[in-house]
Amino acid sequence: MQQESNRLFRRGKTIAFVPTMGFLHEGHLALMREGRKHGDTLVISIFVNPTQFGPSEDFHTYPRDLDRDARLAETAGVDIVFAPEAEAMYDEGYQTYVDLDLLPRYLCGYSRPGHFRGVATVVAKLFNIVKPQVSLFGKKDYQQLVVIRRMARDLNIDVQILGVPTIREADGLAMSSRNNYLSQDERRSALSLFQSLEEAQRSVARGIKDAKQLIRGASELIGAHPYTKIDYVAVCDPETLDDVDLVDRPALMALAVWAGKTRLIDNIILTP
Ligand code: AMP
Repeated sequence: MQQESNRLFRRGKTIAFVPTMGFLHEGHLALMREGRKHGDTLVISIFVNPTQFGPSEDFHTYPRDLDRDARLAETAGVDIVFAPEAEAMYDEGYQTYVDLDLLPRYLCGYSRPGHFRGVATVVAKLFNIVKPQVSLFGKKDYQQLVVIRRMARDLNIDVQILGVPTIREADGLAMSSRNNYLSQDERRSALSLFQSLEEAQRSVARGIKDAKQLIRGASELIGAHPYTKIDYVAVCDPETLDDVDLVDRPALMALAVWAGKTRLIDNIILTP
């Protein structure tokens, strides 16, 4: 991949890059279609990165289907699918990690210790391998997008980071490879994530600014559905991820909720 990237660079070609863990859905394809506009060559990676999964998380059961992914990628205009083996990315003596000070302490970082260290590390490695000028990330994983922006800036990685809006099913559920884990009943309850975010936005539009009240409203709506267990509901600054008390300017409402044994996330920018 590095040789290919160098060859493209020598020929004056720019590279747009979309990192993924595969089992592609419309959300991934939207990133690719957007990426297609931002480079001569569109590269995606498919790599279920072991270092971003906790010991009790779903690394081994995470859905994988490289043949299907390759076909879908082709329809979205992808030129190169980079799908390394874990041993090629992390050899026996591996010992270097990218660790951010503050951003991983918030939101998902709290219940997934080490997750963003794994994410920042693998994305830094992928940037060094693929050498893109532009890389695209989904706003569905909002904290990840903020972490990658900060990491690229802090380490002077010469890449432009673009955020792409969340793609949803017709009924509002944010698309995710993990939606495949849901039973029909859990899938119904999972709708409460987006419903509660939309309800919060309606409240803000009606003039409610108190973050605690908005969080309470969303938590009650989600809690009224069976099979749900809230990990967190937060209203915070969209850049620092620090809690805010009042939504008197755009604020990120982010949540993580278990539907049965599946942990789902979603978010919205609340705009007064
Ligand atoms: P993943 O394969 O889950 O690691 O996701 C790869 C990229 O696709 C990340 O930048 C995600 O934020 C993005 N992504 C995943 N689901 C969606 C979605 N529903 N809408 C937009 N982007 C998404």
